[in-house]
Parts: sequence; C-alpha cells; structure tokens
Amino acid sequence: VIVTSNLWKTYEMGDQQVHALRGVNLRIKHNEYVAIMGPSGSGKSTLMNLIGCLDSPSQGKYWLNGHNVSELNDDELARIRNKEIGFVFQTFNLLARATSLHNVELPLIYNGTPAAERTARAKEVLEQVSLGPRMMHKPNELSGGQRQRVAIARALVNRPSIILADEPTGNLDSKTSVEIMALFAELHEKGNTIVLVTHEPDIAEYAHRIVTIRDGVVSSDHPSARHAAQTS
Ligand code: ATP
Ligand code: MG
Repeated sequence: VIVTSNLWKTYEMGDQQVHALRGVNLRIKHNEYVAIMGPSGSGKSTLMNLIGCLDSPSQGKYWLNGHNVSELNDDELARIRNKEIGFVFQTFNLLARATSLHNVELPLIYNGTPAAERTARAKEVLEQVSLGPRMMHKPNELSGGQRQRVAIARALVNRPSIILADEPTGNLDSKTSVEIMALFAELHEKGNTIVLVTHEPDIAEYAHRIVTIRDGVVSSDHPSARHAAQTS
C-alpha cells in the first residue's frame, strides 16, 4: 500500500528552484495496477523515485506498506527499498560486463543472501521470465526485450510486493513492448502491485487505473477504458 500526503519535491539548481512536485496525494492499494501518464517534465519520474525510496520528498508524508518513509534515514530507506520495491527502468540499467545471472544476483549480494541460495533464486526468476537459456549471456549478447526481462528478473529477485517501472517499454519496439506488458500482467495476476509510467496510451490501457500528472500534481485519476469495459 502506497499513501502520499501533500508530497512536494523541490530541486535546488544554484539560485533557482524547480518545484517538480507540488502536493501529490495518491493512494494505491495492494495488487492495484496503475499507469502514470502526463507531459514531459510534469514530475512522473520524480514521483516514481519518491515512491521507490530512491529519493526523499522536500515536504509531505509518505507511507509504504505501513512504514512512515518520510521519517527514515538513508540506511533505513535502503533497507525498505530492497525489501518492498522492485524497480525497472527505461534504459534497463544492467551491468554491461556481468552475465544475466550475475545481474539478477546483485540485489541479493547487497543484502547478504548466502551464495547458494542467491544463485538458486536468481535462476528461478530468470526461468520465470523465460530467460533460462540466456543466463550466461551478457547484456550486449541479448535483444532489448531480453535485457528488459533480465531487469524485471532483477526487480523480482527479492520478492517485493510492489513493482515500479519508469517507461519500461520506452526503448522497445511495439511487438517486444506487448511481450513485456504480458509479463507485467502475469505479475499483477500473481499478486504484485504494479505502478508504471508511460507516454503511450496503448500501454497505459494495460493498467486498471490511469493517473495523470500535470505540473507536479495529480490532474486526473480514473479506471482505464479497457478495465472499465471488462468490469461493467
Ligand atoms: P519525462 O516524461 O520527460 O521523463 P517526467 O514527467 O518524468 O518527464 P521529471 O523527470 O520528474 O519529469 O522532472 C520534473 C521536473 O523536475 C522537470 O522540470 C525537470 O527538469 C526537473 N528535474 C528532474 N530531476 C531533476 C534533478 N535531479 N535536478 C534538478 N531538476 C530536476
Ligand atoms: Mg521521466
């Protein structure tokens, strides 16, 4: 469960201030599937970084699965992030010199999981994203869609309840995007909460709820047309 109350984020740029978020109130329940849309520069990535505990707000409150995140220090923030959140990025953010297996093991190395368990769990999630046969490949030996599946496996390896994805299909062609969206749908069915940012209305329609951000505030929040049609 994600609850933000009057969330502000101001970036200091020399003597200039950029108010990227200006009071965001958002409540996302367990196992919701939400797409965040909005113009470039409206604050979507800033909001995702706050929800994902990669950054802290300038003002306002944030509760993540009952933790009052706005009051945590950096160490506690990192611990909660590692446990509760899986993050997927547009540019995959994989280590170029490491195999798929090693990339997926990284979060487990970071939290001190014993080596044998680490490898077993990394293999399990790579199988889950159908990359069993590509475990020993490095990112430059994989297609874009396969790279994003490695990144999704890495996001899943700590068994987080929440998957955050910032433009996960932004660097993929439309056929590969559909495959990646099918994978998110599967994760949602298995019980994950999913929040994804996208510019593409077709991609947003995979979600059940569409939240639009404009100038740092929520400007609309409604069920996706596809989901509304299915449930009515
Ligand atoms: P896009 O769709 O282009 O990815 P976005 O909605 O994700 O845009 P953000 O990246 O959240 O937008 O940026 C919101 C505003 O904050 C923009 O005006 C941006 O220039 C500014 N901004 C973002 N990150 C920083 C930063 N680290 N330092 C200073 N300003 C920033
Ligand atoms: Mg962005």
